Amino acid sequence: MKQPYRYQGRQVPPDPQNAFRLGEGKISGYCSVALGALSLLAVLAYLYPSWLTTTELRRVYDAGQLQQVLKYGMYFSLFFGVLTFALNGYRRLGALGMVLTLGAFALGGYRVPVGQVEPRTLSLGVDWLILAFLGSVAVFTTLEKLFPKYRNQNILRPEWGLDLLYFCINHLAISAILIYANYHASHFDWAISPSVQGAVQAMPVWLQVVLIILCADFVLYWEHRLFHEVRWLWPVHAVHHSVEHMDWLAGSRGHFVQIFSERAMVMIPLYLLGASEAALNAYVAFAALQAVLIHCNLGLPFGPLKYLLVTPQFHHWHHGSEQPALDTNYSAHTVLFDRLFGTYHMPVAHWPAEYGTTVRLPRTFMAQTLYPLRQWLKRLL
Ligand SMILES: [Zn+2]
Ligand SMILES: [Zn+2]
Repeated sequence: MKQPYRYQGRQVPPDPQNAFRLGEGKISGYCSVALGALSLLAVLAYLYPSWLTTTELRRVYDAGQLQQVLKYGMYFSLFFGVLTFALNGYRRLGALGMVLTLGAFALGGYRVPVGQVEPRTLSLGVDWLILAFLGSVAVFTTLEKLFPKYRNQNILRPEWGLDLLYFCINHLAISAILIYANYHASHFDWAISPSVQGAVQAMPVWLQVVLIILCADFVLYWEHRLFHEVRWLWPVHAVHHSVEHMDWLAGSRGHFVQIFSERAMVMIPLYLLGASEAALNAYVAFAALQAVLIHCNLGLPFGPLKYLLVTPQFHHWHHGSEQPALDTNYSAHTVLFDRLFGTYHMPVAHWPAEYGTTVRLPRTFMAQTLYPLRQWLKRLL
């Protein structure tokens, strides 16, 4: 008789060298550098808004009010920089943070005049990067510290720098991604049905959101499944699976081909349904938060919700490299399609022993970006 699989769980030993401890100057050093770098980027975005901000996002925030936030960011960066010197540790980080902030002051600081922005089709999403980074750190690192799955895992876990680079690049590319996704969806004009769109618009907003979630999930399920099960597509998606430490930043790792194609595919149902703007905004916010949340180092049990929605435990199993977890849990929003199509794997009492791919990928951004090309060439030659 076949033996049942023995789940072992994951051991994360303490790593005191990379841990943050109060009073050493390391926390203030990193805070100073992060706030200094974000301040400098923000000032550049105020100076060159048509090149460095996102048209869609500018409608949502008040650039004048955000200058107040920038003001506090700059002063806190200087404060943390001085604190590292007072604490006598990590002075280089403190000095770097202060240099970045002084550079931001030299360029005009929080007093750069805010005016009309000349619209430009393609720009870099510096504003999106800054707001998403601040929001994610505030929400998700707090959750991870309050309810960690792996208490010993540090914020500065192995390869955090690589994933931060992916985070930056994917956020900067927002306008290129949107242009491509809209262009892709416009090819489906022939499938637009005014009667379907009319029926959708007649629904209450909450029902429109549920409908969008289900339609998007269906598309994302099959797109994701193809990336796993079509041999020549896997090297592209393998980059996302090369993460070996799960946290809020881990989900950012993804090959640009995957990021672009995923957004382009999900745009099709959004485009065809013709839902109201309120429903679309609610879906985008839900999808963005869930995509980060499911990668988090988060041990929250989620109660009955875990049988309905994709939760960290469900998606951690998707990243597990043990045999029973391989090629399972493809859904992005609800567990429905994994249940329906036989790829559901959720032993609720267990978590994976290891994360990553069975064949290890190269560990740098450039090598990972070229990885699919090299794999394809290898097969061809
Ligand atoms: Zn996958
Ligand atoms: Zn993932």
